[in-house]
Amino acid sequence: MASGNAIRGTRVGSGPMGESVRGELAPRVRVSYWCAAGHETEALFATDPDTEVPLEWECHDCGLPVGLDKDDPPEAAKTAPYKTHLAYVKERRTDEDGQALLDEALSHLRERRGG
Ligand SMILES: [Zn+2]
Repeated sequence: MASGNAIRGTRVGSGPMGESVRGELAPRVRVSYWCAAGHETEALFATDPDTEVPLEWECHDCGLPVGLDKDDPPEAAKTAPYKTHLAYVKERRTDEDGQALLDEALSHLRERRGG
């Protein structure tokens, strides 16, 4: 019924501005979102045809992405910072191992320079 041009032109029962009444009476819909940690985040959206309810939101408790499906929330891993290869290497090796590797690398460099 968006093409009611004839009715809109008559301004039936509307205020001087024609829009003021609409804001007060605008119905709202409460939408529940769920994060991977099980938090429920509620958000209110106007049921205006122009308003699009987003499929994903942000958890009010922990900031993780939340979705409409409680049983299948967005993966928290999506927002985990990308781990560099060096970070993995550091996790695998102790400081001693790292120092030994560094010494070995340095000695190779010295050999090349000396040659
Ligand atoms: Zn959460």
